[in-house]
Amino acid sequence: MPRPTRAVVDLGALDHNCKLAAELSGAGALMPVVKANAYGHGAVEAARVFERHAAALAVASTEEAVTLRESGIQAPILLLQGIFSADELQIASRQDFWIMLQNDAQLGLVESSELPRPVSCWIKLDTGMHRLGFLPSRAHELHQRLQACPQVGGDTVLATHLACADEPDNAHTRAQLHCFLTHTEGLDAQHSIANSPALLAWPDARSHWNRPGVMLYGQSPFAFEQDTAQKLQPAMTLLSEIQALRDVPVGDSVGYGSSWVASRPSRIATVPVGYGDGYPRAAPSGTPVLINGHRAALAGRVSMDMITVDVTDLPNVALGDTVTLWGQGLSTNEIADWAGTISYEVTTRLLPRVPREYRASTP
Ligand SMILES: *Cc1c(COP(=O)(O)O)cnc(C)c1O
Repeated sequence: MPRPTRAVVDLGALDHNCKLAAELSGAGALMPVVKANAYGHGAVEAARVFERHAAALAVASTEEAVTLRESGIQAPILLLQGIFSADELQIASRQDFWIMLQNDAQLGLVESSELPRPVSCWIKLDTGMHRLGFLPSRAHELHQRLQACPQVGGDTVLATHLACADEPDNAHTRAQLHCFLTHTEGLDAQHSIANSPALLAWPDARSHWNRPGVMLYGQSPFAFEQDTAQKLQPAMTLLSEIQALRDVPVGDSVGYGSSWVASRPSRIATVPVGYGDGYPRAAPSGTPVLINGHRAALAGRVSMDMITVDVTDLPNVALGDTVTLWGQGLSTNEIADWAGTISYEVTTRLLPRVPREYRASTP
């Protein structure tokens, strides 16, 4: 028997969420973001599902794009951070990777290189995130340079990224949208603005190309209940089984540092999953898990390979019972709240030690 800890990825949920994103995109095209191993879900498997609904995909790095190509993914792939070297530009040209140009060094490389074939370039404008991108006031100049550049093919797309789209009616988001539209006015170019929260909640940000990531995995980007986000289906369920059960008398402690002490005669279940799998060590006592569909709470610190759970209030708990750490019935957002992080990080941190099982739908 192998260790029972595994992540079940529901391909039907990925498909459902992607269709929803495509509907929200309306006449615009969908560019699913599959960076960071598709937020932990498996980039190749996710890309195969998304390819059915999407004109192109997006990743963070050339390495990620090459992995997809080598696995037979044929859609164009946008490199969200552009290229880091002249070699990468050659690879991009050969493999039909699109490049998000975000500074003059990258633009200079494109203009001065000899390429096997023209490469598609997007222009990233920094409208207020202040990480990457050109000054928006340069939009016309940059657009002209790309139009004049023989190394550049395809449609030129003007893009920006929003800092606060997960907050309703946010003034910074309104300012970013205004800045983008003002500086790109009059240019014959396509636009790309929306990430998941913008696609879900900011109709003005929907445009020719929409770039959702987290929503495709069934995770709401919002800290509040949002109508459309309620329709998302969680794609990853992290499962394990009870490996040991013991009774702990009043006053005895459980786990490293003896941080949890029994205030009543307690029954403690040990589950073989820990921070060595990517379960957040920051999750404190009280963090929920599901056992046979019922809620129970962590008791004591998360270890590298194990957690301990207070099952005193659950009837008929037995060795081998199924434990859900997150996913169906227990959202990654809730676990993220307990652990002081965001749902994005919860699934993205899941380590290779945890086998992924792909199902048409979760049982
Ligand atoms: C990661 C990323 C996205 C996707 O963001 P989500 O919030 O996961 O939808 C979109 N655009 C860029 C530039 C990104 O880096």
